Parts: sequence; C-alpha cells; structure tokens
Amino acid sequence: LFDALADQAALAIERIQLVDDLDQARLVAETDKLRSALLTSISHDLRTPLAGIMGAAGMLSDYSDELPDESRRDLLATVIEESERLNRFIANLLDMTRIESGMTAPNALPVYLDEMVGAVLRRAQTILAGHRVQVTLPPALPLLRLDPVLFEQVLFNLLDNAAKYAPAQTGIGIDAWRDGSHVTLQIRDEGPGIPEPDLERIFDIFYRVRKTDQILAGTGLGLAICRGFVEAMGGTIRASNRRDHSGAVFTIRLPIPDDDKEPEIQA
Ligand code: ADP
Repeated sequence: LFDALADQAALAIERIQLVDDLDQARLVAETDKLRSALLTSISHDLRTPLAGIMGAAGMLSDYSDELPDESRRDLLATVIEESERLNRFIANLLDMTRIESGMTAPNALPVYLDEMVGAVLRRAQTILAGHRVQVTLPPALPLLRLDPVLFEQVLFNLLDNAAKYAPAQTGIGIDAWRDGSHVTLQIRDEGPGIPEPDLERIFDIFYRVRKTDQILAGTGLGLAICRGFVEAMGGTIRASNRRDHSGAVFTIRLPIPDDDKEPEIQA
C-alpha cells in the first residue's frame, strides 16, 4: 500500500513536469511525509478501537462480580462494536491493497440492479434503521455485467456513509435509470453535503472533509475503494451536492453490455 501511494505521489509530481534535481529531493521529502502520515493514520485507526476493546475487557475481567448487569451488557457491546470496527478497517485495507496490486480482476456476471440493491439493503438493515430509505428503480432496467461482490461493497460503503454523515430520521434515496448506453445509479442523502473543493479529494485514500469525521467510525478508505471497484468494472463514480436542499449525491454510471441491449429495445 505504501509503495503504491509513493508511486502515485511520484506520478503526480512527474505530471507537472518539474522533475529536476531539486524537485527529486522534494519528491523524496514529500513521499516520506506521506508515508509517515499514512502510518499515523493507520496506527490511529487500529489503536482507537483496540483501546476500547482492552478497556472494556479489562473492566469486565477485573470487576465482573461487582458490576450491575446493565454495565456488563454495555461493556460487552463495546467489545463487539469496536471489534467490528477493527474488522471493517482491516477488510478495507485488504480491499485497497487488492486494487492497487491489480489483484482485483472483476468477475463479469449478469446482474439485475434491483436484486443487487435488495441484497445490500438487507445487509445494511441495522445501519439504515434510523433513516427513511426510498428506492426508485424502473422495472425494465437492462441486465448489467458486474462483479456482485465488488458492487455490493460499493453500494454498502455509500449507504454506510449516507447513514453516518446524515442526521437520524432524514431520508436516503436510491434511484437508477437508463441513460443511453449506460445505467446511472444515484445515492442521495440529506446530510451536510460535501464542500465543493473536496468533491474530488474525498475519493483519495484517508481523505476526510471534517476533523470531526475522525470521531465517527470511519477509515477514510471507503470512497477510495468505491472508485477503485467501480472503475475496475468499467464504470465511473463522482460526488456532487443536492441543488434543492442540503445533502450529498453519489452518481455511478455503468456501461450496458452490448449483448444485453436487445431486451431493453423490445421492452
Ligand atoms: P470515511 O471512513 O471517513 O467515511 P470515506 O472514504 O468513505 O471515509 O469518505 C471520505 C470522507 O468523505 C468522509 O470522511 C467525509 O468527510 C466525506 N463523506 C463521505 N460520504 C459523505 C456523505 N454522504 N456526506 C457528507 N460527507 C461525506
């Protein structure tokens, strides 16, 4: 992961065509800075949940006889939640490494979008429980060729963010429509939205808009994974803000495979 990022930094600097000796020295310094920022970020994301687990497990072990049932349950819940957080972070890191090392050769299986969305909504049930989810999918969407595992992860990450950044009880919309030779899928929320200058940067690894986002159970990897997976499947993903009122919009465009265009024409 570090090497891939160092390469990215090198490429970005080469692209602006300023690579003389002086810039080489700066490049090394920048790469070192990047490495150390990444290490800090990774250790923070590993140590925060681990500290929670150790604290709660320690209390349970030292005071198990004296603690009221309710406190014991709360401590156990902390152990479970923080372990899940750790698990998610490690899974995300592995996904990221898979993309960067080119190990992600996506399967191209025939997939109906409504079935995919249904599966992800079931999986994300607990996360979405505090929000009103509205799904608007037309009945005759063409069959797509996607990797269901990767695509499910993309949808899950976007819904997870919508639920995380938008206040409870607000709406989350999932819409899809045919758009010429593509299918467009949008996930909209009613949260704070994303400042215009950050609309592209949020797809960078470990980039977070607000300092306070660090407190939420995030890894800063979710959207980088989304972009990596969507592009590996031949699609695009971008972020924007709602025009009518506040909220973020994530738009995914996926190509309709040639052999599956027939049924849509007949429909
Ligand atoms: P994180 O694990 O921090 O959520 P992501 O890569 O998924 O990492 O998102 C990167 C950053 O983009 C978040 O920290 C947050 O600042 C911003 N972001 C992502 N989704 C939303 C959203 N739906 N509304 C507002 N901000 C968002």
